[in-house]
Amino acid sequence: MLSGNLVFAVSLGYVILLFLVAFWGDKKARTGSSALFQSPLIYTLSISVYCTSWTFYGAVGSAVRSGLEFATIYIGPTIVFIGFWYLLRKLVRIGRVHRITSIADLLSSRYGKGESLAVLVTLIAVIGTTPYIALQLKAVTNSFQVISGTVISDLAHPVFGDPDYTTAFWIAFGMAIFTIVFGTRNIDANERHHGVVAAIALEALVKLFALLAVGLFVVFSLADGPGEVFSWAPPDFLNTEDVFGPRWVSLTFLAATAVICLPRQFQVTVVENSDERHLFTASWMFPLYLMLISLFVLPIAIAGLKFLPETANPDMFVLTLPMAMNQHTLALIAFLGGFSSATSMVIVACIALSTMVSNHIVMPLALRLPWIEMKASGDIRKLLLFSRRASICLVLLLGFIYFRLSAKSDALASIGLIAFLGVAQFLPSLIGGLYWRQASAKGAFAGLAAGFMLWLYTLFFPSFEGQFVMPLSVIENGPWGIGFLQPQALFGLTDMDPLVHALFWSLSINTFLFVIVSVIFDPKPLERLQGALFIDVFRAPADNESRFIRRYAASSDLFVLAQRILGTNTAYRLFSDFAKKQGVSGHLPRADDEFIGHLERELAGSVGAATARAMISQVVKGETISLDELMKIVDETQQVIDYSRQLEVKSHQLQQTARQLRDANERLKQLDMQKDDFLSQVSHELRTPMTSIRSFAQILLETPDMTIEETQRFTGIILEESMRLTRLLDEILDLARLEGEQVPWILQRVDPEETLERAVATCHGLASQADTKIEFGARAAGIEVKAEADRLRQVYLNLITNAIKYNTSDKPVITIRTTLEDDRYCVYIQDNGEGIRADDRERIFKKFSRGWRESKDGRSGTGLGLAISWQIMQRLQGDLELLPQTPGDGACFRVTLPFVSIKTSKAAE
Ligand code: ADP
Repeated sequence: MLSGNLVFAVSLGYVILLFLVAFWGDKKARTGSSALFQSPLIYTLSISVYCTSWTFYGAVGSAVRSGLEFATIYIGPTIVFIGFWYLLRKLVRIGRVHRITSIADLLSSRYGKGESLAVLVTLIAVIGTTPYIALQLKAVTNSFQVISGTVISDLAHPVFGDPDYTTAFWIAFGMAIFTIVFGTRNIDANERHHGVVAAIALEALVKLFALLAVGLFVVFSLADGPGEVFSWAPPDFLNTEDVFGPRWVSLTFLAATAVICLPRQFQVTVVENSDERHLFTASWMFPLYLMLISLFVLPIAIAGLKFLPETANPDMFVLTLPMAMNQHTLALIAFLGGFSSATSMVIVACIALSTMVSNHIVMPLALRLPWIEMKASGDIRKLLLFSRRASICLVLLLGFIYFRLSAKSDALASIGLIAFLGVAQFLPSLIGGLYWRQASAKGAFAGLAAGFMLWLYTLFFPSFEGQFVMPLSVIENGPWGIGFLQPQALFGLTDMDPLVHALFWSLSINTFLFVIVSVIFDPKPLERLQGALFIDVFRAPADNESRFIRRYAASSDLFVLAQRILGTNTAYRLFSDFAKKQGVSGHLPRADDEFIGHLERELAGSVGAATARAMISQVVKGETISLDELMKIVDETQQVIDYSRQLEVKSHQLQQTARQLRDANERLKQLDMQKDDFLSQVSHELRTPMTSIRSFAQILLETPDMTIEETQRFTGIILEESMRLTRLLDEILDLARLEGEQVPWILQRVDPEETLERAVATCHGLASQADTKIEFGARAAGIEVKAEADRLRQVYLNLITNAIKYNTSDKPVITIRTTLEDDRYCVYIQDNGEGIRADDRERIFKKFSRGWRESKDGRSGTGLGLAISWQIMQRLQGDLELLPQTPGDGACFRVTLPFVSIKTSKAAE
């Protein structure tokens, strides 16, 4: 146990250090030497405001209670920063171009700068963030009590009774002071808070250092390395049953949403961003930070379970573990880590919320008061500053009240998740607003309002467990006992985790209404204009609006207005800079629409888009271009863009078609050439027999006194040649048919061995005539292939007759063997002749290619047999090859077919 005074003194010292850093940061920024403060490192560290005390203390608690579930809180943002950084980049770009001050401002600005939407978003943000702030107060209070074992008695106040509340109250008070001092130095919320960001970055380092220190202590001092720590884990420690279940997915989704939608995250990521390129660094550095900070969660949880009594609160293990081990310094570091996590969150959240409250609620109200006349001179900055400071106090007060109201028993994690789901309601309108032109203000309002109500009803009110607004009976049995309306089992959806249940109803109804209402009610002209500017932010220049809207005003009126919001000096600088740009002498620029647009954006940086528009419209005279006319311009622009996109697609298609045509033409040319070749070959082949028929017929005709023997010989030749001619024509036709056929053959199961034997039998006569022996070698028995039996037989016949015809051996022998090789059936037909010359091997399968060798009967072949056989084998999905020839052996041809199955007997079929 450490003395309360020591802890108090150290905390105070730390806060003073933060003050100094913040002060230094502000000063550097003012003098313009703020390179360090505008570095990607500081930017990334400030985004780590995501890790609040909930992460710092609660992750270990969550690991003890629900195993790996704690990891979802880190996985969600990691996915966003690695996978969706282009979405963040779009937000950042829009934020800069349109001088966005908060997420409420962004949504209101996107949907036509309306006030009601901004108010609704602000309301949701405040109510959603309040529990979160309460959570931080609770964490600091608890940790203070745990580490000192006391309360700050001298600060106790009778009004608060319970000393818990006293501590929390003074903590809240201290944070309010800090936030007011550094968060409201300038009223231009878009003038970034360099000081605060610097302090937040320091806190990010402190909390990381603290968690790593405790983790390293556990792993290397208490244990002998990670192996030993994990060996201590109780058997049921990592209850991974629910991993990737609905709750797991919901939590990851919520965490991913939160890192975009939480007002404080929006503040640091978008509003405080000074350079879009920093996002590149953050996209890997922030996930790395999350990984480091979650590295030791499990070891600390395990060690806590081992060394601390069973009654110890796991949410405080990070602190109680070093204390139990008497490591006072380490405990103090852990305390400062938790303190940093809590304070940084509260400070940034307060800045973000107070900006929203004062810009969207207080200022619009104030502007309606009769005594604040816009044209009158007088600085309204005081009013703005006051409203912002009051808002900070209000937000912290609400947090404090929630802290008092919420049941003490709540685990830290559940409060954080309530907040996550609250702000997740912004997601549909936000994403829709960035990518969907049809999205309208009415749709956004309907979706948000419904989602918000359902969130209140199904999650927020029930979280008080009957102590606030919603009595216990309603939570358990539904209002008036109607079970159908039970908040945590709405419309009969029972047996669901309350968070998943609330997420399902609130976000699905929200999205549904947003889409449906947007489709039914077309966006108003200004909404469509803003929509176009947001959606096409990477294409459209910022001052597009001023090109569309023509407004006129007296420069002096505008100056009075600007002076009251920006202060005299800034206003003067702004005006004279612009005058110089316009080439106008003096310090008042021409108040044309371009300047008015520029001024409106500058003012929006201070008071938000909606208020800025309202203020300007009070001063601006002259005609505003009719919105219908404006819409026509926007629509036309859009149409031109769409049209040119269509043209691009078309021209791409045309290019492709042209390419295909060129290819087809090339193919046709080749086919044409082949056809010419073929025709000349065919006519050449036909001419030889025709010539001999003609000449012998002529001789017969012109020689009447020819002997009978001669007449017979000549007619025999004529007969022979005409038979050859017929054969040639038959084969040409066959080949042409084979080549021309488009439809694949219908193949049947065939016994290839039987087909082979029938072919051999057919050749028997020819073989014995030529004194040739046909022998069988090894055989593959009992198989089936898919083929067409007649065609296959044609191939066998051709090969066997060739082997007979061209075999020059004295003792001609043909050996046929069949095998199964892998999944193929092969037939080898080998003869013992002289084979085929190396020169001929290449072209043997080509049409009309005859070898050097004459057939034994002296009749030359057509040179088409092998070409036809090759074609047939291709159509049978097989192959025909001439195998390499070894000296002394004759030609060996191989027929291959895909093997189908072992033959089944007919009976079995
Ligand atoms: P054709 O037998 O009608 O001339 P092919 O296309 O069947 O036509 O044969 C082409 C050529 O291949 C034949 O002219 C022949 O010279 C050669 N040839 C085919 N088989 C053999 C073989 N087993 N031994 C030697 N030469 C062969």
